[in-house]
Amino acid sequence: MLGAGQGVKEVTIRKLDVIPAWGKILAGRRPLLSIEITRECPLRCPGCYAYELGHLGAAGPLRQLRDLKGQALIDGVLQLVRRLRPLHLSIVGGEPLVRYRELNVLLPQLGKLGIEVQLVTSAVRPIPAGWRVFPHLHLAVSVDGLQPEHDRRRAPATYDRILKHIAGHHVIVHCTITRQLLRSPTYLDDFAGFWSGRPEVRKIWFSLFTPQEGGCSEERLTRDDRLRAVAALAKVREKFRKVDVPDGVLAGYLCPPSSPSECIFAQTTTCFSADLATVISPCQFGGHPVCSECGCMASAGLASIGRYKLAGLVPVADLLSLSKKIGERFGHAA
Ligand code: SF4
Ligand code: SF4
Repeated sequence: MLGAGQGVKEVTIRKLDVIPAWGKILAGRRPLLSIEITRECPLRCPGCYAYELGHLGAAGPLRQLRDLKGQALIDGVLQLVRRLRPLHLSIVGGEPLVRYRELNVLLPQLGKLGIEVQLVTSAVRPIPAGWRVFPHLHLAVSVDGLQPEHDRRRAPATYDRILKHIAGHHVIVHCTITRQLLRSPTYLDDFAGFWSGRPEVRKIWFSLFTPQEGGCSEERLTRDDRLRAVAALAKVREKFRKVDVPDGVLAGYLCPPSSPSECIFAQTTTCFSADLATVISPCQFGGHPVCSECGCMASAGLASIGRYKLAGLVPVADLLSLSKKIGERFGHAA
């Protein structure tokens, strides 16, 4: 489901959610939950961090993790959600559509519990038509560049299949910007132009490739690449209104957290892998991500919120950090 081995795993935080989220933090809970709902994926994307050996640390590789199916998966997810009571749930994988039968049951139940759900998929198989009616469901489809590059990286989830499988839905297209996509100065423009023209696409998101420590893949951006990407995005969003990359996110891409302890996203999200027991740390990327080169859209967006000063004095990040300490001490830690 991920893009360039990255994936959205971002969460849309609405302004209205800030107060309940803060309440959860004060109660010693994390307001955001992410679940790798399956270990299976028919794709073999270059740079996929989910299948890197260190992704789950001592728990071993994702492909060898015991994962759940059928009623056991449905019950397990609902138990987790009832226990942790998140405001948002990101369903990722592997490829979540591998478990579409279980999701057919889970999605309406999550809606009844009042949980906003983001499901990140490669759209390698049809997205069930019945999901169109769920107002709490946000479908994010990973697309890694224009058709030639994307199809080379992400077959069998090719452009042709994606276009067929998203027909009738309203999806967010998510592109992870890798070094390869910055070779042409108009690449992001061309990408946004193509997907903006599709009626099924309601928004286009861009994140940046986040490397792992010691990684030297072709995808990794240099500092100069990052500056060019941010400058290009600032222009692209002016031209195509579906491109949704706010100022705060762009600012966050230029100044990522220096460690997980400074990352509001990591501090407010609980991530579980496919056995619904293994916790992924320090964040959804697992392993040893390079925070100073983080390109996660949620992390960037929340970091920019954290820099705001309440009453011009106290940065929101400090307040959240204090709230978290209070919550962990006096609340019911998740
Ligand atoms: S679609 Fe599958 S192989 Fe590709 S990045 Fe996502 S989990 Fe990895
Ligand atoms: S800043 Fe670090 S901890 Fe936060 S999302 Fe990025 S890689 Fe993960």
